[in-house]
Amino acid sequence: MTSAELFERAKKVAPGGVHSPVRSFKGLDRPPIFFKAAEGAYLESVEGQRYIDFCQSFGPNLLGHRDPDVSAAISEMQSKAWSFGACEPYSLELAEWMIQRLPFIEKLRFVNSGTEAVMSALRVVRAATGRRYILKFEGCYHGHVDSMLVKAGSGLAGVAASTSAGVSEQVAAETLVAPLDREDLLEELFAEKGDQIAAVVIEPLPANFGLLIQRKEFLQKIQTLCEKHGAKLIFDEVISGFRVAMGGMAQVLDMNPDLVCYGKIIGGGFPVGCYAGRAELMDLVAPSGPVYQAGTLSASPFGMAAGLATLKKIESHSVHETLNQRTEAFAKQLRTLFEAKGVGLDVAQFASLFWIHPKTDKPLRSTADFPAGLGEAFKTLFNGCVDRGVYLAPNGYEVSFMSLAHDQAVLDKTLEVFDQVLKGV
Ligand code: PLP
Repeated sequence: MTSAELFERAKKVAPGGVHSPVRSFKGLDRPPIFFKAAEGAYLESVEGQRYIDFCQSFGPNLLGHRDPDVSAAISEMQSKAWSFGACEPYSLELAEWMIQRLPFIEKLRFVNSGTEAVMSALRVVRAATGRRYILKFEGCYHGHVDSMLVKAGSGLAGVAASTSAGVSEQVAAETLVAPLDREDLLEELFAEKGDQIAAVVIEPLPANFGLLIQRKEFLQKIQTLCEKHGAKLIFDEVISGFRVAMGGMAQVLDMNPDLVCYGKIIGGGFPVGCYAGRAELMDLVAPSGPVYQAGTLSASPFGMAAGLATLKKIESHSVHETLNQRTEAFAKQLRTLFEAKGVGLDVAQFASLFWIHPKTDKPLRSTADFPAGLGEAFKTLFNGCVDRGVYLAPNGYEVSFMSLAHDQAVLDKTLEVFDQVLKGV
């Protein structure tokens, strides 16, 4: 069966035919591709077509698909256990490995997704402070937790409106929303409501609505305000954790958030999330404290084995240095190509993440800076690339993920494809 035929079938059994909305290729004027296999930098569709993959499952595969060392760790686990619902040594190994390397975490809890990690961290900070509000930023995504599905409402500064049906007004009203990159508005919000803010949650490298690289001073200002007003600081490093550096943006910025949320790379391609932080906060979690949080499949042996094998390989092969340099060079080549073709596109890049967007005269740091025409420009680019065997994440606001499997030959091939696609633009 072709992808188009499978999509028709899928629409009969799943909402919109998918199990996560972005997979539906909405706005791209074509049905989604159904993939049957993946290896390294490549995906293979049910039609047998191969694609260079810059989506990489939206981030977990820093080493590429089915890395052989991770594969060996999973095979070994396969012969030992699949799930216990009881104590085991595998999560202990991963937890100790992390805590030895990340100075800002003393204790952690494994969960099954980034969403769960954020949801649990929010519960902890509310319990720790006894306060009502969580402050988040416009353009940052923190999973589909009810209270995080909000945007800035009209009217009073900071007040939120829900972005999803089914989120009650009361829940949305417990979140405050501020724009990124605006110290002045943040000061105002804290001056007004600082004693009721339990925590500020931020993607220190916002990478879910474009790649909005923040100024360090802005992030430090958040921490200063949190300290002054007794609020906690939560870094959502579900994308940036273990990607930009082993210690994520907290390490890059040399900052000490109170809690950090992880997902994606930590499970090496399996569903794992984690929230972590100072012992005094984490000890509030059951059974040592009063904050309830549990999970049947939490710390699943496959996720723990794949995660640890991935992180060990990242460290032993100095993957960050290689990958960050490679991505920087690739982004430069793309910019040169865009310039030569006069197509008015640009590339934002940080570590092994990059985002293609219409050219602007200043760096994009906030959704308020977004240029017009992003959707149309992306559609042309995406479809042109897919037709020639390069798969980007199927939405213009999603970033692209480089993996260790994207070697020079793969990148050269990608540049050739871009060159051909841009001829038609
Ligand atoms: N936080 C961030 C920064 C994310 O990028 C995501 C997912 O993309 C999440 C939270 C939610 O993670 P999950 O999709 O594993 O629930």
